[in-house]
Amino acid sequence: MKPPPPVRHAARARQQAVERRDLAAAQRLTTEILAQGWVVSDTTDGYSLQPRTPLEPAGRSLADYTTLRLGGPARRLVRAETEAELVDVVREADASGEPVLVLGAGSNLVVSDDGFAGVVVQVATRGVTRDGDHHAVAAGEGWDGFVLDVLSAGRVGVEALSGIPGLVGATPIQNVGAYGQDVAQTVTAVRVLDRTSGRVRALTPDECRFGYRHSAFKGSQRYVVLGVTFDLPVAPAGRPLRYAGLASHLGLRVGDLAPAPAVREAVLDLRRSKGMVLDPADHDTWSAGSFFTNPVLDAADAARLPPDAPRWPEPDGRVKTSAAWLIEQAGFAPGYGEGPVRLSTKHTLALTNRGDASTEQLLALARTLREGVRERFGVTLDHEPVLVGVSL
Ligand SMILES: Cc1cc2nc3c(=O)[nH]c(=O)nc-3n(C[C@H](O)[C@H](O)[C@H](O)COP(=O)(O)OP(=O)(O)OC[C@H]3O[C@@H](n4cnc5c(N)ncnc54)[C@H](O)[C@@H]3O)c2cc1C
Repeated sequence: MKPPPPVRHAARARQQAVERRDLAAAQRLTTEILAQGWVVSDTTDGYSLQPRTPLEPAGRSLADYTTLRLGGPARRLVRAETEAELVDVVREADASGEPVLVLGAGSNLVVSDDGFAGVVVQVATRGVTRDGDHHAVAAGEGWDGFVLDVLSAGRVGVEALSGIPGLVGATPIQNVGAYGQDVAQTVTAVRVLDRTSGRVRALTPDECRFGYRHSAFKGSQRYVVLGVTFDLPVAPAGRPLRYAGLASHLGLRVGDLAPAPAVREAVLDLRRSKGMVLDPADHDTWSAGSFFTNPVLDAADAARLPPDAPRWPEPDGRVKTSAAWLIEQAGFAPGYGEGPVRLSTKHTLALTNRGDASTEQLLALARTLREGVRERFGVTLDHEPVLVGVSL
């Protein structure tokens, strides 16, 4: 389809504005072009124009887009299938002051029953480009499909992250991790739209400030992740095993090596036994994964825990303990709760929707658990999922 003359004219004017670095004018023209139903994007030799992807009907419930199956309506929802669409939708919303929620697979989101009064941008970009061991992956690629593909090609580095739901673009947000690996170990660059400047740029791992279930992205609205580059070499075995439960499941010890595909199978076994692999038929997986992070305590606070509490020393002298253990020892057994929100019957860290729950009910249970642990152990649990329009 050919763009009509006014759109072509506005695109040419925008190009000139870009060339003379008048970003305000360029943004205004981008908005004007979008309003006429077209998406303009910068290319190496100028610009391109594509018809805008139709909006989904307003008021679509976000419960349909989260693994908890919770959340009220979005004012509007746009599915961005190209990077240009993703960038333009966010730039346009920023220019008009409309709130933006970037949505991946909704597996780490707790959305208010009132929904989201702004535009929800569903990331649906695809593509993997390989250059030697470096894999540049579009934000909208499914994480576990990517893991399976690289392991099938004899590559290693993400085998212990098998079975984690969600999209590649979300993995840097909380430095996704499990069974002794996290993405910080293999990420070499994160391509982002920086919403403060409106520019696309690549962040180094240092700039990402990765930590335990944390990064520069978590709790910040500044960046939209467009793609992530991972360094995943070919190797005869996976990375040395770092997690005791995984090593023993494989009949090995911490520090031993095992073939990456065998590590994947063992991880999937362990995850399934804990309800941590999505299964629409199993309400124990209608969750956001672990609802609380494992607390990292000062040595003095850790010393006050009962002697049998799990303790994992951190490099900075602090001590990580188990949120699941604290919850269980505070009197909340697997399956705890009445009505439509309960602890998973397989894992005390997952708060689950048994079919007809509300976000408020979920938060009420989370507060009960947090209070119970605080009273019993003096430790305040921090929530792991991103809360949208609600607080604990
Ligand atoms: C059963 C289950 C098991 C899980 N197990 C684990 C686990 O072992 N380890 C672990 O770390 N996590 C785990 N999780 C949590 C979750 O899967 C991860 O955090 C995952 O990376 C979220 O991806 P998503 O695409 O679903 O992101 P969403 O839930 O859609 O979004 C999460 C946050 O990231 C932001 N976001 C998403 N995409 C982008 C983007 N492209 N640019 C900017 N911001 C973005 C969103 O705005 C939101 O703030 C689990 C969840 C479930 C349901």
